[in-house]
Amino acid sequence: MNPFSYSKPEDVSQAINLAGPASRFIAGGTNLLDLMKENIARPEHLIDITGLPLKEVRETGSGGLMIGALVSNADLAWHPLIEQRYPLLSQAILAGASPQLRNMASTGGNLLQRTRCYYFYDASVPCNKREPGSGCPAKDGLNRIHAILGASAECVATHPSDMCVALAALEAVVHVEGRAGKRTIEFADFHRLPEDTPQRDNQLADDELITAIELPPARFTRHSHYLKIRDRASYAFALVSVAAALELDGDVVSDARLALGGVAHKPWRDKAVEQLLVGKPVSRENFVAVADAMLRDAQPLAHNAFKIKLARRAIVRALSDAAVGGQS
Ligand SMILES: Cc1cc2nc3c(=O)[nH]c(=O)nc-3n(C[C@H](O)[C@H](O)[C@H](O)COP(=O)(O)OP(=O)(O)OC[C@H]3O[C@@H](n4cnc5c(N)ncnc54)[C@H](O)[C@@H]3O)c2cc1C
Repeated sequence: MNPFSYSKPEDVSQAINLAGPASRFIAGGTNLLDLMKENIARPEHLIDITGLPLKEVRETGSGGLMIGALVSNADLAWHPLIEQRYPLLSQAILAGASPQLRNMASTGGNLLQRTRCYYFYDASVPCNKREPGSGCPAKDGLNRIHAILGASAECVATHPSDMCVALAALEAVVHVEGRAGKRTIEFADFHRLPEDTPQRDNQLADDELITAIELPPARFTRHSHYLKIRDRASYAFALVSVAAALELDGDVVSDARLALGGVAHKPWRDKAVEQLLVGKPVSRENFVAVADAMLRDAQPLAHNAFKIKLARRAIVRALSDAAVGGQS
């Protein structure tokens, strides 16, 4: 770990004024400290944001919820308004990490956690995400956990978050503040595909702080399900995960959301595919057709072709479970 200086600002504008390319915000530290200990992240200055007033979950005037960036993953998952109105989000958070980690991890930090690609975490090998232009050993190496959608010649890493898959399906909005002012970013636009700049995971500028995540008014409350498939029953990242949400009129789908985790550099959604469900009855045949459409552009690497079949089955099961009320 390289030496670094440390400060703990008391308000958002102080935090933003301290930010820059050589500094990092630190919240729960559950990802950043690991990266620093392995010399993958080498900030010269840490800005401890845990004293900022961003720990509230409150209702918005439009009937949605505003979640402060420092609300812990545990507090969010167990918050009564989240459990009652957005059970998909609660399920997704509780499918991740461990109780201890969820107590420390923050909402903002969860969005910005970095990939779990083995090569990214090994400073002795090249990695375009870590050292742009150095190469991608995962493409021809051990790539069982890597992307099947949206990858590039430079990077085949996946985004590891569970929470973000649910936030993508729920069409959350990310509120950020930097020296240029405040702005909001639609969740679908927040994370990036790797293209030829895989070192950039998202659209944030160096001085921008996530202040809150906004959830639109609750929908899909009765018919949603988060399904996570992993190597171990707990304390493991998703090989494939699915956030499925339906609105039903009788047994006919009137609206649908579908997002995949573990398969791409960002939570994967395809609005055109979701529309294939609308106006159709709930049926295995329709769910299989949607799964096929969702995966039509999937490109396997040497060791992860199994993910295509797994994702197909997981989509069908998650939609089926959502249709009967999210019970599995
Ligand atoms: C063993 C282990 C297992 C895990 N399993 C899972 C899992 O199954 N599913 C899952 O989803 N996650 C899992 N995680 C990841 C965990 O959820 C993340 O590490 C956590 O959410 C990060 O939050 P944090 O507050 O600790 O972030 P930090 O480590 O403090 O920060 C992470 C990054 O976010 C930046 N940052 C933090 N807050 C802000 C902000 N408000 N604005 C701008 N930048 C900010 C930091 O600068 C840093 O770059 C696991 C982690 C570990 C260690």
